[in-house]
Amino acid sequence: MAVLVVGGAGYIGSHTALALKRRGYEAIIYDNLGAGHAELAPGFELIVGDISDASKLAPVLRRVNAVMHFAAHAYVGESVVNPRKYFQNNVLGGISLLNAVLDSKVRKFIFSSSCAVYGTPAKVPMSEDLPRVPVNPYGVTKLIFEQALEAYGPAYGLGYINLRYFNAAGADESGTIGEMHSPETHLIPSAFEAIRGQRPALDIFGDKYPTPDGTCVRDYIHVSDLAEAHVLALEYLAGGTSQAVNLGTGRGYSVREILSAIKRVTGREVSSRMAPPRAGDPAELVADPTRAQELLNWKAKRSLDEIVATAWKWDERVRPTPK
Ligand code: UDP
Repeated sequence: MAVLVVGGAGYIGSHTALALKRRGYEAIIYDNLGAGHAELAPGFELIVGDISDASKLAPVLRRVNAVMHFAAHAYVGESVVNPRKYFQNNVLGGISLLNAVLDSKVRKFIFSSSCAVYGTPAKVPMSEDLPRVPVNPYGVTKLIFEQALEAYGPAYGLGYINLRYFNAAGADESGTIGEMHSPETHLIPSAFEAIRGQRPALDIFGDKYPTPDGTCVRDYIHVSDLAEAHVLALEYLAGGTSQAVNLGTGRGYSVREILSAIKRVTGREVSSRMAPPRAGDPAELVADPTRAQELLNWKAKRSLDEIVATAWKWDERVRPTPK
């Protein structure tokens, strides 16, 4: 079986392409390389194209049985200051991809959604039936695409799964692929930059949240665990019904706890300083991963220390400590 991994030269897409290959599937990567990197697609067929380019998509869609869609902008803060970019790509581009899929014979679609669709949750841990009330434009774009799938699914016989990720982190254990964002805004790689003096200090975005130590709590999930869930979702789609599934560990860590884990694992101190809260950041986001376990027989296997260790190994390779 062949799968088109759209956005497969990005962070989560590249790890999923590798997980598919390891399970014996053929993965073809389609990416416009706007934010992706050809180095993250080693040994894969890479087709360079945009999600809104239906004529480029049509021939490759004839060669696959399923599509996984990762090609989206994913910075909450940027979506607040530049929503146009997010609606253009994540909504208009995404729907154009979806229509290209409908115009082909492919009827299996897996979507990279996000816990951002829930906004500030009424309860934690968060199950899939919570109301979806996003609090930033990024989350709105993910919700609109979920709703398009919910309409297209029954109308056109399209099987889909909305995988709602919590905080993806870490890198493949092989050290060959990992996170490569520019600029880097995510917590763990940003802390590594502070360790190396590549930024003056790690800004802690707020310490007055209603959490045990006042800093935001997130559910950090190893990217290889996430990637493996996509393969299981694909297999579930062969017999199951369309669904939304949270992908997280069920355990939250505060920003300060992450900085302690980094010190423990790398032996290096992260210099940090207090900064104002970031727009659109809820206090606590932690998954209830029950449905993923029940439907997909999936559970996160890798620990926080493995997340930090694999991320550090990768980061030291691509942005080494100056000698
Ligand atoms: N964060 C922080 N300083 C940074 C980057 C992130 O304090 O330089 C916090 C952020 O407020 C959030 C958590 O770390 O609570 C994870 O943020 P990240 O950007 O990694 O992921 P997001 O939750 O936005 O998907």
